[in-house]
Amino acid sequence: MNSILMQPWHRAVIKVGSGLIAPGGERISTKFILPIASFITECRNQGKEIVLVSSGAVAAGLSTQPQMQKRTHRSIPEKQALAAIGQSLLMANWNRFFDFPCSQILLTYDDIHDRRRFVNAKNTIQKLIDLGTLPIVNENDTVAVEELKVGDNDNLAAYVAMLAEADILIICTDIDGLFDSDPKRNKNAKLIPVVEKIDNTIYSLAEGSKNPIATGGMKTKIEAAHKAVVRGIDTIILNSTKREVFDHLLDGKLIGTIFKKNSNPMTAKKHWMLHALTTTGKIVIDLGAAKAVQYKGASLLSSGVLACEGDFKKGEPVEVYVKEGKTLNVIAKGVTQYNSNDLKKILGKKSSEISSILGYTNTKEVIHRDELVLVTDI
Ligand code: GLU
Repeated sequence: MNSILMQPWHRAVIKVGSGLIAPGGERISTKFILPIASFITECRNQGKEIVLVSSGAVAAGLSTQPQMQKRTHRSIPEKQALAAIGQSLLMANWNRFFDFPCSQILLTYDDIHDRRRFVNAKNTIQKLIDLGTLPIVNENDTVAVEELKVGDNDNLAAYVAMLAEADILIICTDIDGLFDSDPKRNKNAKLIPVVEKIDNTIYSLAEGSKNPIATGGMKTKIEAAHKAVVRGIDTIILNSTKREVFDHLLDGKLIGTIFKKNSNPMTAKKHWMLHALTTTGKIVIDLGAAKAVQYKGASLLSSGVLACEGDFKKGEPVEVYVKEGKTLNVIAKGVTQYNSNDLKKILGKKSSEISSILGYTNTKEVIHRDELVLVTDI
């Protein structure tokens, strides 16, 4: 199989899915972990830094509960209990392969979209790397309720790549990469070695997960790659069930698919705003203001605001919509300087009128440019 020459990299986030840890949905197996563990050790010997995102807690927990194995439907408390049982087994399993310490980090979506917790997690990961440990991350399935979950470890790994400021995200799976059609159904399917830009055509190649034990499929892998590349992080998908794939990678050659990082990546803060920040309200603006924001790098002023929805406070994130005829299209996310009650009073007014209407001014902008990120930036 042809290989692609890789750019040198220093820090990687490696994502390993449940299908590789507990193949066939049974107990934890060393079969596919061994080559990954050797790869991690070899990378570290070469002076590279690695953060691992490992799935498999639920699968490992299940291996201790034979009575639950036959059922495909499990309640949320059951799955959470399985994750609690399995997480320690998962860590013990990884620890067996290394003569350096592993460290465990369990995250929920809350830790990513809350800026303070995000920065905290980032500092901790940095410290754990400095201390020479191998940070191993998983979603905190035991406590995360459904709506506070990232939900799949592909997307989680992309967030971790942001947190760890990695140069590369390596998604280990049991297929060779992204194909132009489903290789399980079409024997003429061709591997796509390089994806320069992730667009709808690329998404349309994705199929949902077929593996009963794995959460994501190709779709979540593309979503993860999308998050990473806009932040300037190359993302690769490779078949880690083939040892030679790692040998090649250690020689700087990829057999798999690379999603190329954007040449003009977003700043860390803007990237976090776009991908991780949950908004609390909506601001609707007119076409003129939208153009100024989209094409001239302008801040959003009250004169261009038509309406606002939701109950938000100063400093909270909101989505910005443009009204085109009868339709509303989302164009940006940003941090508002005025709460929803006050914003309603200054809709369409000039910045110079704000202080006489409200009796105070926070800033002359409703959303400052530095606190605004366009959705078209991706
Ligand atoms: N966090 C889940 C687990 O450890 C896996 C999620 C996923 O595979 O995407 O079982």
